[in-house]
Amino acid sequence: MYSIDLSGKTGLVMGVANQRSLAWGIAQPLAQAGARLAFSYQGERLKPTLEKLTAELSSPLLLEADVTDDASLDRLFEQVRAEFGKLDYLIHSVAFAPAVTFEKPFLETERADWITAMDVSAYSLVASARRAAPLMSEGGSIVTLSYLAAERVVPHYNMMGVAKAALEASVRYLAYDLGPKGVRVNAVSAGAVRTIAARSISGFADLYSAAGEMSMLKRNITQEEVGGLGLALLTDQLGGGITGETIYVDAGFHAIGLFLPKGSEG
Ligand code: NAD
Repeated sequence: MYSIDLSGKTGLVMGVANQRSLAWGIAQPLAQAGARLAFSYQGERLKPTLEKLTAELSSPLLLEADVTDDASLDRLFEQVRAEFGKLDYLIHSVAFAPAVTFEKPFLETERADWITAMDVSAYSLVASARRAAPLMSEGGSIVTLSYLAAERVVPHYNMMGVAKAALEASVRYLAYDLGPKGVRVNAVSAGAVRTIAARSISGFADLYSAAGEMSMLKRNITQEEVGGLGLALLTDQLGGGITGETIYVDAGFHAIGLFLPKGSEG
């Protein structure tokens, strides 16, 4: 029988806000396979949700951290080091852009909003990887979450698309720097899933149903499918040899070059 045993492995999961979060989709199979997990959350108001969600896991570590604050990240990784001694997996599932950037045309992007989106959604991966790497003394794997808007224009995504392009380029440079240490870095590019972050994007409901209708599989993807790919990329047993990569789990949507009008599909 083919099975994955991650007992003795440790992971830090950044970005679980509730049970719908993509990070939670990745954390569940990791925990089920035996890994011990720490969760970082933004702001104390999220703690009760995290406590409830993780109640069944074996000794989870819940740590508050804001990715825009270097001192907060220093504290986070120091707490992980003190408790775990080493780190095998890092899941970076954090993004934010001011609401106005989804509402106005990209042309109108203000400098401050550009900086905020880049800081939270792209630089935070670099800042986190830099602090995780010294803890990955036995090698390790880092996974972040991206979206097709990094490569193609998706109406409304605007600044978030630009930040995801920076994130995917950062994945490649980090993978190059960390490869000699045996640390792999990859991005999961997920199709639309109804989460808090997604629902804050204007026009998301239309985009969600269009993606479902137009994808090759003629359906939307699930949080579990994101979790499956995340698990594969994190574990050497399944994803060893893959680094610097962005892999789509979007029911084939990204690979279609032309959408025919309804009724004329082949
Ligand atoms: P989510 O709202 O559940 O997760 C976003 C997380 O980012 C939240 O936990 C939030 O607290 C955290 N965050 C934001 N600013 C932060 C800060 N300053 N410090 C620390 N944490 C902060 O939504 P999600 O959809 O699970 O988003 C996770 C990732 O998946 C994001 O990178 C998102 O862009 C990406 N993604 C989502 C979809 C989708 O359709 N839901 C598709 C592709 C990619």
